Amino acid sequence: MNPPERAPVLRVRDLVKEYGEGDARVRALRGISLDVERGDYLAIMGASGSGKSTLMNILGCLDIPSSGTYLIDGADVGRLDEHQLAILRNRRVGFVFQSFNLIPRMSALANVELPLVYGGVGQAERRARALAALEQVGLTDRVHHEPNQLSGGQQQRVAVARALVTAPALLLADEPTGNLDTASTGDVLAIMDRLSESGRTIVLITHEDDVAAHAKRVIRLVDGEVVEDRRQAPVDGPPPRLRPSEEAAVR
Ligand code: ADP
Ligand code: MG
Repeated sequence: MNPPERAPVLRVRDLVKEYGEGDARVRALRGISLDVERGDYLAIMGASGSGKSTLMNILGCLDIPSSGTYLIDGADVGRLDEHQLAILRNRRVGFVFQSFNLIPRMSALANVELPLVYGGVGQAERRARALAALEQVGLTDRVHHEPNQLSGGQQQRVAVARALVTAPALLLADEPTGNLDTASTGDVLAIMDRLSESGRTIVLITHEDDVAAHAKRVIRLVDGEVVEDRRQAPVDGPPPRLRPSEEAAVR
């Protein structure tokens, strides 16, 4: 399943999602189309009920659309069987949820190793990769702590490490700072910024402007439709990298 070189990480076309039947029918997504290129950092914004989580769950292959197509890394998700889908979900997508979703009474290290257990990676390699991921989020000194021995911010950093440990093509985060205080929000966003600078593709859902300000691109949903799609310079990020000709012009 080698993707063609230049396929975008995500290609979404006319995605519709309806819940329920008849009078109770809700159209959560009303025809979403978008591409996300490798290395992009996209924030999806919108009021509560605008369809953000529905879109995220479909992007992460946790749910299926009513109609429309969705390609991840060039693979048409709608055409995959259960087994292929499970592999895609395990290897190509990393998730971070608002409520952390760590397994209680398992150490941080064991939590981060878990996707590799499902992925069939051997124990020694699993351990090494999980430790490296925990180091990336600054938790080397907490690897043997269980979730209830960690602060909310630390738990979310474990969740980010767990999402990263499979080296996914795409990191999806649904309101990752929604349950965090200001300081921990800053920590998690700084990690996301670093991951973005190192070339990771990130799609983050938020309803907070301060959080969205970290992204390179912002999409706004209203009632299941994209009403805005704009690029922005990140507020605290490094200056844009210029081409030599541009550099000559400004220096
Ligand atoms: P957001 O994440 O932006 O708050 P959601 O994607 O959770 O929005 O919800 C979009 C719409 O779909 C809402 O009207 C919500 O009530 C509805 N919805 C979401 N999940 C379900 C479900 N499992 N069954 C029925 N309706 C749902
Ligand atoms: Mg939501």
